[in-house]
Amino acid sequence: MGLMWLSVGVLAGLSAWILNVLNNKFIVDWKAWTGLISGIFIILFGVAWSVSSVLEGVPRSGSMGFLLFDGLGLIILVLTWRFNLQHKKKHPPEESQHQGVIIPENSDLEIDSNSRRNFLGTTVLGALNLRHIIGGIIGLGAGVTGVVAVKRASGKVLDDVPNAIRDDYRRFDQRGVIQAFAHSPKLQEEKKEWTDTWEQAANARTKDFKIQGSYERFVYGNPRDEVGYRQLDYALARGGWETSLRGIPITVAPNHGIQSWDQSQVNETRYKFGSKQEAADAIKSAAKLYGSDKTGITVHDERWDYDPLYDPIDEKVVSWNDFPFTPKTVIVCIVEMDYLALSTAPSIVSDGPSGQGYSDMVMVSSHLAAFLRHLGYKAVASGNDLGLSVAYAVAAGLGEVSRGGWLITPDLGPKVRICKIYTDFDFVEYDKPRDYSITNFCIHCKRCADACPSQAITHEDKPTFGPTFEHSDNPDYNWSSKPGVLKWHSDSKKCYEFWVENGGSCSSCIAACPYNKPDFWHHDLVDTTNVITPGPMHTFMKEMDKVFGYGNVNDPDKVHKFWKSAD
Ligand code: SF4
Ligand code: SF4
Repeated sequence: MGLMWLSVGVLAGLSAWILNVLNNKFIVDWKAWTGLISGIFIILFGVAWSVSSVLEGVPRSGSMGFLLFDGLGLIILVLTWRFNLQHKKKHPPEESQHQGVIIPENSDLEIDSNSRRNFLGTTVLGALNLRHIIGGIIGLGAGVTGVVAVKRASGKVLDDVPNAIRDDYRRFDQRGVIQAFAHSPKLQEEKKEWTDTWEQAANARTKDFKIQGSYERFVYGNPRDEVGYRQLDYALARGGWETSLRGIPITVAPNHGIQSWDQSQVNETRYKFGSKQEAADAIKSAAKLYGSDKTGITVHDERWDYDPLYDPIDEKVVSWNDFPFTPKTVIVCIVEMDYLALSTAPSIVSDGPSGQGYSDMVMVSSHLAAFLRHLGYKAVASGNDLGLSVAYAVAAGLGEVSRGGWLITPDLGPKVRICKIYTDFDFVEYDKPRDYSITNFCIHCKRCADACPSQAITHEDKPTFGPTFEHSDNPDYNWSSKPGVLKWHSDSKKCYEFWVENGGSCSSCIAACPYNKPDFWHHDLVDTTNVITPGPMHTFMKEMDKVFGYGNVNDPDKVHKFWKSAD
């Protein structure tokens, strides 16, 4: 990348020299300057875009960028040359030119330095006609828009989560978490009406779906002779899950293994921070060291906690009364998943970054919980147990909930996993929820819904307070939904059925999302402009994302590309 910016810098220097030459040879008025500078800027932008796209491995985006931006820049330059540049006359007859004002050659007008200044002032003021004022206003407007865009990209601070909550919202029963239910034969037997209704609905759309044993079928699917599902691909996924699955099934179970509620490690001496900001900085610095890519700190909020909790390993309901302390703060950490491996979705290679993400969650949350305990405060590490990770991440200002139901962060997009630390420490500067305009983009996008192989994600235009999918009016089917929150409601049972059929998790929705991009300046720029542009522009940007070659799923070439990504 450094070489690319150096080349752009050299090209910019060359352009400045060419402009100077043109200025000496031609009469360059304000229209010509505008045309020349904007044409050159757009061409340089196109070059930078194209080189960056090739470097990130998306040559189609490179050629599209070259075609569109450099083509546009060239057209502007040609039009400017044709209509706005006139050769300067070398020997104006009987007149000499001075500072743009024609002075008769035989004039006895003396221009001393004082009168020269007046003369200049008169010229500048005289030049300020309506066109210059309009040009100035446009320039100023563009500058202000840029500043507003950059500021808005860091989010509008809110008092509460951006999603409206209705009075009928109830805390979510952890027995309704699909993985917990599917992992627990006892629960499937106890809630026979849930089991039967789900199986009936599932068998109407896929063949022979049986809940019992399905968890093992999706976690330990069988390799087959197909790119993305070979022994090599499965080995990658299982390696990624190793810490998570071997250490503790972090996806579902409270109070197990490294997520233990045991507080015997808590130091008797409580470390005192000088200020709340110092405490927040220290916690976030420690989290970063342990592997968190972004950390937010929010007040503990019972609305987002499961109630009751359910332990699918010991197959029992767990009460919050048994929790070892009253939580006051929830620290939310996110870890980034590998872009290239995810883009192979729904192949099993894309299960690798999911598994690695969960393993990273184990490390980050357990290490940070131990850090707090050694500081003398009670703390419990949590993966997907205890509470709704996405809701806590939104409350901590880390992003917004997407159409697909997962978190989208403004800088890492949707390719993240979330873990949490519940603690009784509360002398800390809390983060606030933020509006990043992501929901606004989702209204006009629906790319995840189009890409979903099980059609689990809703195509509803706007968020709703409850699910609208088939059977959502049947409580024996609808137990895995969370009515009362204004958001898009997916049918997570359909999603799970595809995982079982696929022999591993899927991630097609994340891979297709326009926010899912590697860390390159041109993607940051697009995300920043999306924050302030109106809805129809979002539809256009979504379409351009496809045209530029991003977000395609089911592409075996991407599997090959991943296996050659070592350099
Ligand atoms: S993971 Fe796959 S099946 Fe599930 S919602 Fe996303 S795209 Fe659909
Ligand atoms: S694909 Fe589009 S609609 Fe879906 S989460 Fe991403 S931005 Fe939102």
